[in-house]
Amino acid sequence: MYAEVIIDIAAAEVDRIFDYDCGGFDIKRGMRVSVPFGRMRTEGFVIGLKDTTDVPPEKIKAVSAVLDRAPIITDEMFDLMEYMRRKMHLLRVDILRLFIPAAMRGGRVKELTRRLAVIAEEYRDRDPDEFIRKGALAQRELYDYLTCDKPDGEYVSELTKIMSASALRNFAERGIVRIVDAEKRRVPYSDLPASENVAQIVLTDEQKRACDEICSSAGKTFLLHGVTGSGKTEVYLRCIRHTLDLGKTAIMLVPEISLTPQMLRNFRDRFGDEVAILHSGLGQGEKFDEWRKCLTGEAKVALGARSAIFAPLKNLGVIIIDEEHDQSYVSERKPRYVTSAVAEWRKTVNNANLVLGSATPSIETYYAAKCGKIKLLELTGRVNGRPLPEVRVVDMCREIRRGNRSIFSDELRDELKKCVSDGNQAMVFLNRRGYASYVMCRVCGFVAKCERCDVSLVYHKEENRLKCHYCGNLYEPLSECPECGSKFIKEGYIGTEKVAGVLAEMFPSSGVLRMDNDSTRTKGAHAKILGDFGAKKADILVGTQMIAKGHDFPDVTLVGILDADMSLHIADYRSVERTFQLTTQVAGRAGRASLPGKVILQTYTPHHYVYNYVRTGDYKGFYEKEINLREVTKYPPFAKIIRVLVSGTDDKKASGVLKNIYEKVGALKEAHPEKFIYLAYMRSPVKKIMDEFRMQILARLTVDANDIEDGIYTAVDECKTQGITSYAETNPIKLS
Ligand code: ADP
Ligand code: ZN
Ligand code: ZN
Repeated sequence: MYAEVIIDIAAAEVDRIFDYDCGGFDIKRGMRVSVPFGRMRTEGFVIGLKDTTDVPPEKIKAVSAVLDRAPIITDEMFDLMEYMRRKMHLLRVDILRLFIPAAMRGGRVKELTRRLAVIAEEYRDRDPDEFIRKGALAQRELYDYLTCDKPDGEYVSELTKIMSASALRNFAERGIVRIVDAEKRRVPYSDLPASENVAQIVLTDEQKRACDEICSSAGKTFLLHGVTGSGKTEVYLRCIRHTLDLGKTAIMLVPEISLTPQMLRNFRDRFGDEVAILHSGLGQGEKFDEWRKCLTGEAKVALGARSAIFAPLKNLGVIIIDEEHDQSYVSERKPRYVTSAVAEWRKTVNNANLVLGSATPSIETYYAAKCGKIKLLELTGRVNGRPLPEVRVVDMCREIRRGNRSIFSDELRDELKKCVSDGNQAMVFLNRRGYASYVMCRVCGFVAKCERCDVSLVYHKEENRLKCHYCGNLYEPLSECPECGSKFIKEGYIGTEKVAGVLAEMFPSSGVLRMDNDSTRTKGAHAKILGDFGAKKADILVGTQMIAKGHDFPDVTLVGILDADMSLHIADYRSVERTFQLTTQVAGRAGRASLPGKVILQTYTPHHYVYNYVRTGDYKGFYEKEINLREVTKYPPFAKIIRVLVSGTDDKKASGVLKNIYEKVGALKEAHPEKFIYLAYMRSPVKKIMDEFRMQILARLTVDANDIEDGIYTAVDECKTQGITSYAETNPIKLS
């Protein structure tokens, strides 16, 4: 027998199938093996078995070891690999690596086995007086404990804490107790307390209609459009319950930062041990065990961030993507993939349902729903008829004209005071971390920049350092300008660190928490901040978009949005959409329970149309406006944008690769000019990151230009060059 092996080395040259002699091992498709490769030994995935090979007998090498006892890649996942290879132009090994926990490679994580003591079968129902001496109390106690309290056995380490070790030894020697190796699962969040009051929720009519519609279908895609606080999660939970009752399985995806203790508890309460949590915050061992629960079928529900779409569950009945518009569903790291495309594929092969949920669907998804490609379900009101919060748009230019140069408008400051003195809580949102976003000389205009990246540095006060948010490099803060020697150094846009500081001074007795990438770096910090805020240990929570999602704090009555325009002025066709989404999501944190909510939105462009729709919570109005613009200007969903990004430390060499690709794309344009709306190459807006020069080709194609799209991806493949990174993306989430 011969095994077809994909070598676990990520390089285009090695992305082939290599044949190995099975060497007498019992190998199955989907197992990993250790094989000689060149002069080394490496791991590989067995993707097939066959009786003959074209490799001459003197050349063929044999498998050295088998690394798995059972297949770890299912047939469905192999098919998915082929699909992703074809559609997304990825290497097989890069795809296979997505399918398993990273630490499995190189054997860095294994099942945790512990010695387990079990009463031998033949001693179970016998009269213990026959084999336990009268007076051997310790033995008698042990026997009773293992037969009555622990009929499935108990770990030796636990047992010897409470029972006599010599009695156990005696039993083991006489064969009364068998000592076996048993797997001990590492359970993440095992200290998570159960919810106190799992009140029976009665679905609203709209929720019920949505559930019925989904549960009575198969193989369909839905958009569940529900305002913030409309009870989408409850709909998801019911659909999953229904799916499990049919003997099928479910995947539920949420953005990484929405995977809050609250969400986990919800799922544990409903599905107990049948839910596997796949989350980057888990330890390697926990991650491995949760993943294996999916593979073995013990888990029926996988809950996690984007990579949970690869959970090895069989017989999927439903896939849910919550906050479907969220950017975290597009993998920005290699290998680049779009989660919804993978979900759509798995939905189809399993004849499952796919539910996309959001309060602010992406324009593309809503368009698909409008065109009838997917089914639109709506939750128009908050549960219990709670009103959406009142949104007040405050003109910050006017504040400045009136002499208020603070970061807070008078109105926001007054509302904060009132909120705190009423004993309620507030959230203050600013999508910029650090203390001050750039440090500039007032005399000559010098701006402190990173040496390795083409970006300005951010001052972090706690560390008293200038930090690069692209590469993490730290620099000494400036006391004078390195160009002109002036001491007039100005701080630029403020960040969350400064806001938290100012608020702490304004409200010395209130407690101010901050949540951003800096304050949540350590494991568990994220959960702790949310826990403390939930327990009302602080009145004010300041944060970046991390606080925008999924949180349900009943006492939050006020939300302040400090610089709403931040995302508006980015040169990207999606910048208005993003601003709408972000501000609506943040606003939705206010007034979720019995107390009404208020939102103060501070902007320098109060008359921008987007704020009108945010103010009235009018998604549909916003959609109509935006879709018309997209149609007229020919942007997605009325066109496809393909970006080819080339980067490398060798500027010339990278430019050479870019030029080669551009020539090939140019030839495509020559042959099919009607498919191209736009084509150009240029330096990327961020010209350098981590010493690598960045440049790009931008192509805008008609929506039907699938062949051209594929042709561009192929051109990138053909021009791969050592030392140069190059890739293509369709409708990229960032154009920087
Ligand atoms: P969304 O995800 O749409 O923003 P959630 O699912 O978080 O909203 O629901 C908001 C709150 O309303 C949650 O605390 C949830 O338990 C509660 N809830 C959901 N459905 C109902 C219902 N039918 N009756 C009462 N409370 C509900
Ligand atoms: Zn200067
Ligand atoms: Zn840098």
